Amino acid sequence: PRLANQIAAGEVVERPASVVKELIENCLDAGATRIDIDIEQGGVKLIRVRDNGRGIGKDDLPLALARHATSKVYSLDELEALNSLGFRGEALASVASVSRLTLTSKPAAQDTAWQVSAQGRDMAVDLTPAAHTDGTSVEVRDLFFNTPARRKFLRTEKTEFNHLEEVVKRQALARFDVGFSLSHNGRTIHALRPAATPAEQQRRIAQLLNPDFMNNALVIETERAGLTMTGWVGLPTFSRSSADMQYFFVNGRVVRDKVIAHAVKQAYRDVLYNGRHACFVLYLELDNAAVDVNVHPTKHEVRFRDQRLVHDFLFSQLHRALAEYRPDGQSL
Ligand code: ADP
Ligand code: MG
Repeated sequence: PRLANQIAAGEVVERPASVVKELIENCLDAGATRIDIDIEQGGVKLIRVRDNGRGIGKDDLPLALARHATSKVYSLDELEALNSLGFRGEALASVASVSRLTLTSKPAAQDTAWQVSAQGRDMAVDLTPAAHTDGTSVEVRDLFFNTPARRKFLRTEKTEFNHLEEVVKRQALARFDVGFSLSHNGRTIHALRPAATPAEQQRRIAQLLNPDFMNNALVIETERAGLTMTGWVGLPTFSRSSADMQYFFVNGRVVRDKVIAHAVKQAYRDVLYNGRHACFVLYLELDNAAVDVNVHPTKHEVRFRDQRLVHDFLFSQLHRALAEYRPDGQSL
């Protein structure tokens, strides 16, 4: 039943941000090193995501829009062993059913690009030749044009774009090796080259979050018993406008997790003082077998095989780093 639930995971398309999330994950699954995202009107009018990944062959193009087209899922074991971001094979089909979607792609081995499109439930299976360099573009227009009830739930253009930008930010923080660009109504919002060196990575973080964060953050770099944590935690000298600056990544994936949140919060509370919001960008690396990333279809959740071990590691390492920052015991 768990497998069935995971596959039947229903509506992945809640708002423009969820579409962008699925499309970016597909690009990453395809090995893209560059992802360009163009948005109009908060994503309601247009979401276009272009990548330089391995592409989809002509014959597979119509299949990519069919529900459960993915050939990846067979058993729970395989599901758990799976390291790709997609596994339900229904994201594109779901998006296509509530928008006007065009999929254009060219694998490097193919001479020309081909294109398929779908409008709501009517899927046009005819393939047309198209112009496209190696890689894939997905164009999603008029989201929820045929489901007015859902369209009604969308917020203002600005709010929808903010949600969407947050998705891009998280992916850009998770994958320094990939270049990202994001534009809204023709204006460039982010232009990020792949960041290989620590200096480039810091620049990316400063650019995405708050330039002041890097100047007021403690560098974390610690390893114990197969667990590695790197990143930055904000010091009390960092005053930010938003309380929501908590970014945690497990094995390169964006993650929100209660165990993690609790450990970090406790370390902060112990060393600093109560009520202060923790600000952090932290990367945890551990053996893939020690963590289950397929707990929830949206995959923001993880389940650690040994929650206590992870919690204690995060807490003790952060606690020590923060305490060392004020060796004289003076209050910050
Ligand atoms: P899933 O990612 O779960 O397999 P999707 O509906 O998101 O399902 O995508 C369906 C299929 O289309 C993918 O399995 C993949 O083969 C192909 N695909 C989608 N987007 C891309 C892309 N950007 N590059 C290459 N292949 C893609
Ligand atoms: Mg997918």
